[in-house]
Amino acid sequence: MLFRSECLIHFLNRPEMDPENLEEWCYARFGTGIAEKYLIPYNRKIWKRNLKELSLLWVDRIPDPSREDIVKSALGIETEGYTHQLNFFYPRSGGIESLVHSLLERLPKVQTGFRVRKISKKSHGWEISDGKRVIEGKRIISTIPIFDLINSLDNVPDRVRNALEGLQYNSVIVVMIGVNHEGLKGRTALYIPDPDILAHRVCYLKEFSSGNAPIGKSHLIAEITVPPGDPLLSLDDDKLVERVASDLKDICGFSEDDIVASDVKRLEYAYVVYDLEYEKNTGIIYDYLDSLGIYYAGRFGSFKYINMDACVDMSRKLVNSLY
Ligand SMILES: Cc1cc2nc3c(=O)[nH]c(=O)nc-3n(C[C@H](O)[C@H](O)[C@H](O)COP(=O)(O)OP(=O)(O)OC[C@H]3O[C@@H](n4cnc5c(N)ncnc54)[C@H](O)[C@@H]3O)c2cc1C
Repeated sequence: MLFRSECLIHFLNRPEMDPENLEEWCYARFGTGIAEKYLIPYNRKIWKRNLKELSLLWVDRIPDPSREDIVKSALGIETEGYTHQLNFFYPRSGGIESLVHSLLERLPKVQTGFRVRKISKKSHGWEISDGKRVIEGKRIISTIPIFDLINSLDNVPDRVRNALEGLQYNSVIVVMIGVNHEGLKGRTALYIPDPDILAHRVCYLKEFSSGNAPIGKSHLIAEITVPPGDPLLSLDDDKLVERVASDLKDICGFSEDDIVASDVKRLEYAYVVYDLEYEKNTGIIYDYLDSLGIYYAGRFGSFKYINMDACVDMSRKLVNSLY
């Protein structure tokens, strides 16, 4: 109660200021209580950077509850919350990947297993090669990471290469744990600001569909962000699972004996980081791609911190503007 009243009093008396970076924004928008107890430690965990070095370009993604909702929540009165995350569709089986498979079934011309390594401009259009095969096309719409796209092109000017090197991002390690009971249900996600716990977020996937785990079992995925090249990326899977299980067993409600399956995935390109040079660097790169007539979309394709819905929307709008 003390904790809550402190957050509420600080929120109602928050300072009037024009924030210039993420740390200042946390204080200005929510007051010292919520900023220091949750927002700042959580954001430090996910971004792995000093929050004074992060810009405000993406803060519209942070839920923006009304004053009334914050007061009601502090008093324990239920509010509607972040509505677009409250109501959504999710595949009954096959996880979110089944969305991509169902799109593929409708697009018989799509070639998969082709890693773009070289892109060359020709008089008739473009040649794209994976080192063995070549695809020709009149137009390029790229959704591969912007790093791979630029690195596949010849004669890239130094100013563009420098801008590319300046782009900042985080990788993610995803630790998956399956248990022999249905206990990991009833919540969709847990956000953990505690710096002593490795993961910043835990998601309970059986909550989205009962098809996501066998009957009588359940599982969680724990996400750990790291800057590229961080030593944690080369830690053994077993050690990562052991550490995450020990971190989470009390807050998530399982014991090491309950674990029946585990796996670890590492994803290099996971979170776009909006540092203070973001606009300058992306501006140089976008201008260059525009000058070549190359179109781009998607999260790392356009280097924007967007989710699946926004990626689909961006691609749809781009294609509608071209055809
Ligand atoms: C940990 C985590 C949790 C997330 N949770 C959610 C969520 O709950 N809801 C949500 O909506 N979004 C979520 N997202 C974001 C979502 O995953 C992305 O927004 C979305 O997948 C981006 O789609 P995309 O097509 O731009 O890129 P991707 O899905 O990354 O696709 C890019 C493709 O390009 C391929 N590729 C890379 N290099 C080359 C190359 N040289 N040649 C050919 N192909 C190449 C890759 O193999 C990949 O298949 C999450 C992301 C992360 C990292």
